[in-house]
Amino acid sequence: MTFRVVVLPGDGIGPEIMAVTEKIVAQVLAHSHQTILFEHQLFGGAAIDAVGEPFPVETQTAIDKSDAVLLGSVGGPKWDEAPERPEMGLLALRKKMGVFANVRPLQIFPAVRHLSPLREERLEGVDFVVVRELLGGLYFGTPKYFNETEGVDTLRYDKASIERIVHYAFNLARQRRKKLTSIDKANVLATSKLWRQTVEEIAVDYPDVTLEHLYVDAAAMHMIQAPARFDVIVTENMFGDILSDEASVLGGSLGLLPSSSHAEAGRPALYEPIHGSAPDIAGKDFANPIGMLLSAAMMLRQSFQLENEAKQIEIAVETALSEGVLTKDLGGTATTTIFANKITEIIERSA
Ligand code: ATP
Ligand code: MG
Repeated sequence: MTFRVVVLPGDGIGPEIMAVTEKIVAQVLAHSHQTILFEHQLFGGAAIDAVGEPFPVETQTAIDKSDAVLLGSVGGPKWDEAPERPEMGLLALRKKMGVFANVRPLQIFPAVRHLSPLREERLEGVDFVVVRELLGGLYFGTPKYFNETEGVDTLRYDKASIERIVHYAFNLARQRRKKLTSIDKANVLATSKLWRQTVEEIAVDYPDVTLEHLYVDAAAMHMIQAPARFDVIVTENMFGDILSDEASVLGGSLGLLPSSSHAEAGRPALYEPIHGSAPDIAGKDFANPIGMLLSAAMMLRQSFQLENEAKQIEIAVETALSEGVLTKDLGGTATTTIFANKITEIIERSA
């Protein structure tokens, strides 16, 4: 089989972490009968610089023909004053690909758990996934404007958009510990009332999954006080944005975490680390490539069913950490290159 992956290195540290990730993916595939064709395309600030827009039509066409998209990171202060913003490209990319489900797993790595802001005993058993609705809510609703005297955003959800994300989350919970926490603000917001009612209706189809509802303010608190209670979390776009950032710091570094975003079955999915373009360390070979590497592992598993190859990368990452090969954000001295070489060596060793 040959898989086509569109690679969007993007801006800041994106190209550095992408380069080592491509090498490592090629390495784990070397002994299999599968081939991945990496097709590089312009995206974000890099695309603005080259062709004047963040999401050029060539990139869109390539994505239409692809099996998956691997994204580094997008944006940076360089484009703060630009008429076209790199981040607009990101919203357009999500919309164009139809990726309505953003999935962020949080895993605590024992080797770096001392970096977590949480006390040791609160980290025991923490292993959850945030499923964020990505195409609706405040980010896309119209009217949207501001003038001298007022600003307006529109929060609107239709039932069909809620149904598809909630089904996605229930199915994911089924593959895990069978607990789903739906987060809303149903005591105040109309969209949340529809959300909660829809979740209740769908729950009838998943009697094997334990369902709980939490208000978003309470959920933010539980995430700090008792994060081990969560298995799968499902929530709307803005609550998901905030809660997934909150979750991401529990593990100790932003640089560790991957994400995937999914459209309807049969369409390409998008894989990217959760961190931004980290312009402060770009080009210095300091970046932690783990979030990118684990995103690629998610791609191998979810888009291509290459479970063994995904596992090889994940195990190599854990092994490197436990052998004390740590990048700067983790308190170590390893460069991106040194860390990546270590991963290559571990995979070689275990082959
Ligand atoms: P964005 O708006 O694009 O999400 P951000 O302002 O949230 O960006 P990041 O770019 O994620 O910020 O960076 C936040 C901090 O974390 C920065 O100091 C950055 O250097 C650091 N950081 C982010 N990713 C990594 C990484 N992979 N390795 C090391 N440090 C990182
Ligand atoms: Mg951010």
